Amino acid sequence: MSDCLFCRIASGEIPSKKVYADDRIYAFHDIAPKAPTHVLVVPRRHIAKLADAGAEDREIVGEVVARAAAIARDLGLEHYRLVVNNGEGAGQTVFHLHFHLLGGRTMTWPPG
Ligand code: AMP
Ligand code: ZN
Repeated sequence: MSDCLFCRIASGEIPSKKVYADDRIYAFHDIAPKAPTHVLVVPRRHIAKLADAGAEDREIVGEVVARAAAIARDLGLEHYRLVVNNGEGAGQTVFHLHFHLLGGRTMTWPPG
């Protein structure tokens, strides 16, 4: 998807502050952090939103979640939040599935 921001970031076409990369997953610092640590963890495969993930995407979605937890551990985060915004009404602005890993401050509940 050449017009997708996160496809272009994951491919290296658009620069980002890399946190983790392998052949299936790319993670980078959010450009407008909402917490002291704000990392976006994305599958390289283009999936527009979580609701579009099909049976064939189960493995990669699970892998991204597990990788987010590993990144949190590596960054020394004991308490953190992992968030997916699905759809505009939920705050999604980039339509390539991504998990927000937020940490380094106290979180309130429920989210707004
Ligand atoms: P969402 O609103 O859930 O779709 O999240 C999209 C996130 O992408 C927001 O937190 C933005 O700050 C972040 N973002 C947008 N453009 C960039 C970029 N070029 N590099 C890093 N993060 C970005
Ligand atoms: Zn994409």
